[in-house]
Amino acid sequence: MASTIYDKDGRLRIPNPDEWPVAKAFVREAVTVSAAFCPEGHDLVDPDRAIGGSPGIRIGFRRPDGEVGEVVLNPTLGCFDKIVLSSELVNGEELSLFCPVCHAPLPILMECHCQEGAVVNMLYLTRDNDPYHAIAFCNVVGCRNSSMIRTGDVIRAANLGEW
Ligand SMILES: [Zn+2]
Ligand SMILES: [Zn+2]
Repeated sequence: MASTIYDKDGRLRIPNPDEWPVAKAFVREAVTVSAAFCPEGHDLVDPDRAIGGSPGIRIGFRRPDGEVGEVVLNPTLGCFDKIVLSSELVNGEELSLFCPVCHAPLPILMECHCQEGAVVNMLYLTRDNDPYHAIAFCNVVGCRNSSMIRTGDVIRAANLGEW
């Protein structure tokens, strides 16, 4: 079953928004994250903040002007919907992302090519901080990489020169 979400090259197939109503059911089943850890081991999946029918991932952000807010990310990889709990998200702004519990900055996997200075942040799927078992997303609001994807797919794409 899970193989249907990968393309012929073995990469995660991220449906474009037009396909979501059809794709969402099986995608959610296969790749909804149920735990996501900061570098200090805090699980940011918040059972009190459902989004798309599943507990969302709550992260803190700091905007370029210094204003601090919190956002809940959809725990299903490839889904862009978010709930902004405080402050606001403005397209094109580069955010500093951090754990809302300990305020540790989210680790950086690599640069994102969407704009100068953009980076791909990670949350670990296990408490041993393994970058190969993590989810990743760009820190620029509205970047097409701002929904969550698997770090393994990012690393593979980068190795192929496709990132
Ligand atoms: Zn933390
Ligand atoms: Zn980006």
